[in-house]
Amino acid sequence: MAVGSLLILPGDGIGPEVMDEVCRIIEWFEKKLDVEFEKKFDDVGGAAYDKYGTPLSDETLRIANEVDAILLGAVGGPKYDNLEFSLKPERGLLKLRKELDLYSNLRPAQCFDALSDYSSLKPNIVSGLDIMIVRELSSGSYFGEPRGIEKSKTGERYAVNTTYYSESEIERVAISAFEIASKRSKKVCSMEKANVMEVGVLWREVVQKIRDRDYPEIELSHMYADAGAMQLVRWPKQFDVIVTDNLFGDLLSDCAAMLTGSLGMLPSASLGNKNANGKLKAMYEPVHGSAPDICGKGLANPIACILSFSMALKYTFDLKKEAELLDKSVERVLSKGIRTADLLQKENQKPSSTKEVCDEILNELNIQL
Ligand code: NAD
Repeated sequence: MAVGSLLILPGDGIGPEVMDEVCRIIEWFEKKLDVEFEKKFDDVGGAAYDKYGTPLSDETLRIANEVDAILLGAVGGPKYDNLEFSLKPERGLLKLRKELDLYSNLRPAQCFDALSDYSSLKPNIVSGLDIMIVRELSSGSYFGEPRGIEKSKTGERYAVNTTYYSESEIERVAISAFEIASKRSKKVCSMEKANVMEVGVLWREVVQKIRDRDYPEIELSHMYADAGAMQLVRWPKQFDVIVTDNLFGDLLSDCAAMLTGSLGMLPSASLGNKNANGKLKAMYEPVHGSAPDICGKGLANPIACILSFSMALKYTFDLKKEAELLDKSVERVLSKGIRTADLLQKENQKPSSTKEVCDEILNELNIQL
């Protein structure tokens, strides 16, 4: 059964290494289950600069606009550090997010029981943790105008960034958070700084309005973002879905991520409006970067990228059971103590390679089927 189309963009550094493993997982799903993806492959970031002279070609963007979902590895690397700003690999990624208007960034912070010792917090605080941070991704302080570094009349330099949100920008990310919460425990906490910022006042008002009008079954609470950061490390399990703006979401999702162990474990999704096929525009990618320090050594943890594909199964292709099968297989591999070097704690423990971890996940998929 054809379930939809995928654009696979491995990118730079460890991106292609972890994406190779994701492709083996996709092949397994196609061979063993009644699913089939129409797959297209292309380059992004430094790899696209090397091939096309730009970190995101117009043709790649055109295809990205047509497919149901994009799977991206990572971009960047020292080779490209001296390129002018507009040609840097990271610009390719930002352009994709901007052009596809991917405004809702989903970052799950999930602590697998086998890894509850890896968090900087006590195991009883994090074990079984499963929260979702929904971060507004296309507006706010990172895009607001005016912005820049200027010189005052006295010759002193000053810098300006503007935090801007329109009602509709807040509305759509609030809807995204309520929709996700509807499929989870129906609980949302919205975080802003309404005590000191007008943007926060409007944010709180609009989120509450959407909840009262369209989602009365959802339990909504509001928290100042600084208090939210404190609560995240004090008792994270009090939260289910957190919705917040671009800047606070950047900080809070990194903080929540570290509750769960390694960067190599963290998937993400960025969602937009519906495309011509009636599916939400979507890009799935691990949170980590291109990790030049371990590139080419077989050390990269493929799980963040594999769990990103699992999110695609759930959020784009409506294959919840298949996603659960994959998540469960990852969990079982971890509980057997199989892990890449980033997840090792004891000196005499032998790390598994990127490929070996995927071999084990495929093995578990076969057992679970
Ligand atoms: P990074 O995430 O690449 O690496 C940070 C640390 O985590 C490194 O020690 C790395 O070895 C380790 N690490 C990351 N992913 C891992 C994995 N899957 N398995 C095991 N260990 C892993 O961040 P950085 O070093 O700050 O950035 C390197 C490059 O990546 C830069 O060019 C940066 O701009 C780019 N970057 C890209 C993205 C993206 O593509 N979304 C995100 C962040 C950074």
